[in-house]
Amino acid sequence: MQTARVDRRCLPVYFLPQGETGSQRLQNEEQITSPRALPIVRPPRPEPSTKLSSRWLRRAFIATALVFATTAPVLAATDDGKVADFLLNNGMEVVVVPDHRAPIVTHMVWYKAGSADEPIGKSGIAHFFEHLMFKATANHAAGELNRAVAEIGGSHNAFTFYDFTAFYQRVAPSALEQMMGFEADRMRNLSLTDDDIKTERDVILEERRSSIDNNPQAVLEGEVDATLWQNHPYRIPIIGWMQEMEQLNRADAIAFYNKYYNPNNAVLVVAGDVEPETVKALAEKTYGKLPRGPELLPRVRPVEPEQNTKRTVTRSDARVSLPSFSTRWVVPSYRTAEHGEAEALDLLAEILGGGTRSRLYQQLVVKQGIATEASASFQGDMLDDTQFTVHGSPRGGASLADLKAAADAEVARIAKDGVTSEELDKAKDRYVRTLIFAQDEQDYLADMYGSTLATGGTVKDVEEWPDRIRKVTPDQIKAVAARYLVSDHSTTGYLLPKTEN
Ligand SMILES: [Zn+2]
Repeated sequence: MQTARVDRRCLPVYFLPQGETGSQRLQNEEQITSPRALPIVRPPRPEPSTKLSSRWLRRAFIATALVFATTAPVLAATDDGKVADFLLNNGMEVVVVPDHRAPIVTHMVWYKAGSADEPIGKSGIAHFFEHLMFKATANHAAGELNRAVAEIGGSHNAFTFYDFTAFYQRVAPSALEQMMGFEADRMRNLSLTDDDIKTERDVILEERRSSIDNNPQAVLEGEVDATLWQNHPYRIPIIGWMQEMEQLNRADAIAFYNKYYNPNNAVLVVAGDVEPETVKALAEKTYGKLPRGPELLPRVRPVEPEQNTKRTVTRSDARVSLPSFSTRWVVPSYRTAEHGEAEALDLLAEILGGGTRSRLYQQLVVKQGIATEASASFQGDMLDDTQFTVHGSPRGGASLADLKAAADAEVARIAKDGVTSEELDKAKDRYVRTLIFAQDEQDYLADMYGSTLATGGTVKDVEEWPDRIRKVTPDQIKAVAARYLVSDHSTTGYLLPKTEN
């Protein structure tokens, strides 16, 4: 389902392979959505399955939870039964979200390992491994899963993110056991050859060239990240740095596999036309047979130092026709925020730049007429601290500097004067409405539980969400704006056309 909100920027998400050969997969199936705040020219997308941004996932998460509390009959998961959450004996967590509106199930396995978990110097290994998961196992030839899914008219996909990697299939309930069998098998039984490594490494290198290096916006994004984050691994691109990707080898892949691809580091989410008891029995029969893996240490990563400077990163490129800017700040995520701050940041993004009713849009696009677009976003669902972004593109003869100054003024105004209760209530309502649409998609139900659980949250967090968002006050909005959106501690990326002189 598409709504006006889908145009929100998103973090890079690497889409998955459905083709059997790497090159086919790259060209025909895999897709990278744009890195966050700047719009990017997206490649044609033959793959029907759409993976929305994490931002969107957060919204879906909110939607469902809010509806739990308010208009339950609208919501899939509630009119069918309670969400079930349990552990298998080997430590694998299982979440079942009953949704009987259509005879379909979405089966997802989330690994708590993403690009930010990679060993130093091995950037890209998480995404590389996502590709390798489609190779042969001890029990299935490469391509068997693709054929099985195609034969029953289902779809499947996978993606790598900073904090997790996920694999999923959408199939008829009768095929659930078969999918669980495939997924459980490749969790432990991959048989990687040197040839697999070489072939697939060429695929990811080409993927980097075509999606990042040939795209001025993506190049800028990567270097803005590396400037905003001074120490945390979120500074490293999910796809990896080229010179490190070139060196990734079989030993790296196997080490990553053995460390992270184990039932006790995975979350199974099944949303759809199925009962928890059925899923439990099938999960015990498939995943339950796998041995528990090594115990992992807590995911403690290098901590970001204090931000003390204002930085700019500029890319001029002849291929750019429309200039743009994006200003970013390091802010807490849902996992790292003090009580209520992340909820306030989400609503601040809504008020400031969440759509055509937002302050940035009304002021810069409608009233002043100096922008073609202006938006704000908060990437709340990260394991560690995250970023808040304000973005804009000038219209006509307006200068980028004037637009940037006008956007800064809106940010400063909210930090100084705050918002009214009425404005906040309207923002909450818009939020909820958008989300009610979002949760119509079963994928989102699965996504919201998976991304929450894979980043340290719980089913209870999802269920308690509505109360927490409802409790945000105007004072909290003002407080987070004043505390975090400080101009002197921001990093701004400028994308400019290259002129002759
Ligand atoms: Zn890829």
